[in-house]
Amino acid sequence: MRWRVLVTSRSFGKVSSEPINMLIQNDMDVDLLTEPKESDVIRIIDRYDAIIVGNDKITGEILERAKNLKILCKHGVGVDNIDLESARRFGIKVTNVPSTNSDAVADLAFGLILDLARRITSTAIRVKSGIWEPLIGVDVYHKTLGVIGFGAIGKRVAKRARGFDMEVLAYDPYIEELQEEFSFVKLVSLEEVLKKADFLTVHTPLTKNTKGLIGDREIAMMKKGSFIINTAREGIVDETALYEHLKSGYLGGVGLDVIDKNSSIKELLLSLDNVIILPHIGMYSKEAINSVSIVCARNIIKLANGEEPDNIVV
Ligand code: NAD
Repeated sequence: MRWRVLVTSRSFGKVSSEPINMLIQNDMDVDLLTEPKESDVIRIIDRYDAIIVGNDKITGEILERAKNLKILCKHGVGVDNIDLESARRFGIKVTNVPSTNSDAVADLAFGLILDLARRITSTAIRVKSGIWEPLIGVDVYHKTLGVIGFGAIGKRVAKRARGFDMEVLAYDPYIEELQEEFSFVKLVSLEEVLKKADFLTVHTPLTKNTKGLIGDREIAMMKKGSFIINTAREGIVDETALYEHLKSGYLGGVGLDVIDKNSSIKELLLSLDNVIILPHIGMYSKEAINSVSIVCARNIIKLANGEEPDNIVV
């Protein structure tokens, strides 16, 4: 029987035709349905053997109807949008792509640090509207970077910070010691990171333990004028607390790649000059998208050929 693959990720195969061709050459049919409503997926999911998803919510109801589904490939790292418990219950393998897009996300996080520090976007917007006025920022070189979550992306941001001679402090309760190549990083308590960081960058998954990890109390522990960057997931940093501490002039600036585009707090944050909000572009480099797409296609082909796919989450 030919396998049918449903793609709901909006970036799968966007950069080259190679990932889709891999599936077709392995006798599979591929249907694209980008950013669908849950009801659309529920209606058709029983026709598919495999699905490649982006950030769309994959609920228990969808998985219950997925009678022929053998594998669900997350076109990315974070699996907080997938009901993993239901996938396990219905015997559907879930895979993701750890480390494949980490450099792209680390570049973005560091880009936001530089942009906020030197007010690049704010100044450029003014120039475009005819205001030829320099804004004064702060140095990044030699400052202290706090990394919350020292996994694939956190480590890569730290490597970039090294090139700027930054002191790097990391908080990650699941790591006991660091490999030799990270001897320039100090593993410390959350409190110490918060108290000392000039720039705080968040790289944990969204779980019940990390939701609201950086809230009002934590921000108040930071230095006046410090910066927060969240390229991980909405909700790990409390956006309302961010707004309050920006409005009072306590925080120097905030960069967010992850926020609900329909939330009212997004509108309030956008009204502030020292806030940069992006539409979840962490892995949107040509290299990262293509690599992630190829890993997803390869995993489906592996399973169809009776082999174990890579990076099984459940
Ligand atoms: P990873 O699993 O390699 O690293 C996550 C790290 O967070 C781990 O070292 C873990 O020990 C640590 N951690 C877990 N709970 C923690 C806690 N309570 N406090 C501190 N540290 C904690 O994952 P990664 O590849 O580095 O990605 C991190 C997250 O970034 C993903 O889960 C995903 O949500 C997000 N992400 C966003 C984009 C984007 O487009 N913006 C792209 C990829 C990943």
